[in-house]
Amino acid sequence: MERKKFLLNENDIPQAWYNVIPDMAQKPAPLIHPATKQPLKAEDLYPIFSKAASEQELNTTDSWIEIPEAVREMYRIWRPTPLVRATGLEKLLDTPAHIYFKNESVSPVGSHKLNSALAQAYYCKQEGVTNITTETGAGQWGAALSLAAKHFGLELAVYMVKISYNQKPYRRSMMQTYGAEVISSPSMSTKAGRKIITDNPTYQGSLGTAISEAVELAISTPNCKYVLGSVLNHVALHQTVIGLEAEKQMAMAEEYPDVVIACFGGGSNFAGLSFPFLRHKLNGETPDTRFIAAEPASCPKLTRGVFQYDFGDEAGYTPLIPMYTLGHNFCPANIHAGGLRYHGGGAIISQLKHDNIIDAVDIPQLESFKAATMFARSEGIIPAPESSHAIAATINEALKCKVSGEKKTILFNLSGHGLIDMAAYDRYFANDLTNYEVTAEDIAKTTKDLEKLL
Ligand SMILES: *Cc1c(COP(=O)(O)O)cnc(C)c1O
Repeated sequence: MERKKFLLNENDIPQAWYNVIPDMAQKPAPLIHPATKQPLKAEDLYPIFSKAASEQELNTTDSWIEIPEAVREMYRIWRPTPLVRATGLEKLLDTPAHIYFKNESVSPVGSHKLNSALAQAYYCKQEGVTNITTETGAGQWGAALSLAAKHFGLELAVYMVKISYNQKPYRRSMMQTYGAEVISSPSMSTKAGRKIITDNPTYQGSLGTAISEAVELAISTPNCKYVLGSVLNHVALHQTVIGLEAEKQMAMAEEYPDVVIACFGGGSNFAGLSFPFLRHKLNGETPDTRFIAAEPASCPKLTRGVFQYDFGDEAGYTPLIPMYTLGHNFCPANIHAGGLRYHGGGAIISQLKHDNIIDAVDIPQLESFKAATMFARSEGIIPAPESSHAIAATINEALKCKVSGEKKTILFNLSGHGLIDMAAYDRYFANDLTNYEVTAEDIAKTTKDLEKLL
């Protein structure tokens, strides 16, 4: 019998996060201050983020950054997470490929997001912050941060994208259970929100808008910081606990992945699983490993976006980030993988994609649900609609192996479970979901003026 799962013990929780930038031959271009148009300094970020996060954001020299003991202590609640050999899915697909997944769905909030939420809340508390604010799409980030804020004794206000606020009431309930205040975005409580509502009263919200509202609140409230759940370098950094554990677990399985796959919203779970493996590719030990980011066809920034400086939010409060983007005014379709509805790809991953070190594929919504159903029926876990994009990409790779006879080892990230997304599954089974096509004209419209931002 082949082994099904690979478990570490608490002592194996990493002591340090891995920063990939020192190992990149071509570093990402610097973040740019939106007013001065000069490369950003850590001090420029202090009004928005904690000092520690600001410094991590711009750290291009330290490969390893120590995980504070108070954060490791909380990680012990659910980490290390299991690495599982997906023998049921292999059998269903009748593929010679070996498929493994890292199961991040076992966290108390059901996704990988808690890895960074705890770190960011901890730093805020250390620095004397009393209030934090953030945005959330489908609610996973908001739920994770609500738990983290409560644990470290911080008040939290979450701007939740309106469409999800209405479609996904249970994530709102989760946040409220942990004690956070949840506000539907766009709201009338910020300048950015009021402007968007005035221009377009029926607007269903987007992550870009919600970020603008949260940043505005942080800047205008004393002792309040903003906390972000994806896209930025320090968030990617915190998520590397996933890949560092997976590296040890793949060694226990006596295999090394030929292909590493994760779904892609702003890049945090992709970075988290892939960067520790990528370091062996960057230093020449494993030149042939492929890394695949699986994004939704309705929000295809890595596969069809432009590589340009752009804002991280709709209103233009954030620094300018060098990244693959569909434009900060791009309004993604209301797909059910709410966590993937973000317009840009983050600086590190965009640079890696630009240099052809990583690949990206886009997955139509219906294909993601088909893959999710196959996975649930063969492995038992109902995946988050976001994670289903990684599963679909994994199935495609495994089926290629079936044709070619190659016995590849595929590792993907199960970034979360879908138990709070059953309304989306209901609509899939009722044939009520569609694929959303983005036209070249759509993309041209929201990317055409980006050059002028610099
Ligand atoms: C938020 C989320 C994502 C997408 O965000 P990334 O930063 O790209 O990882 C993917 N899966 C789940 C379960 C999420 O909650």
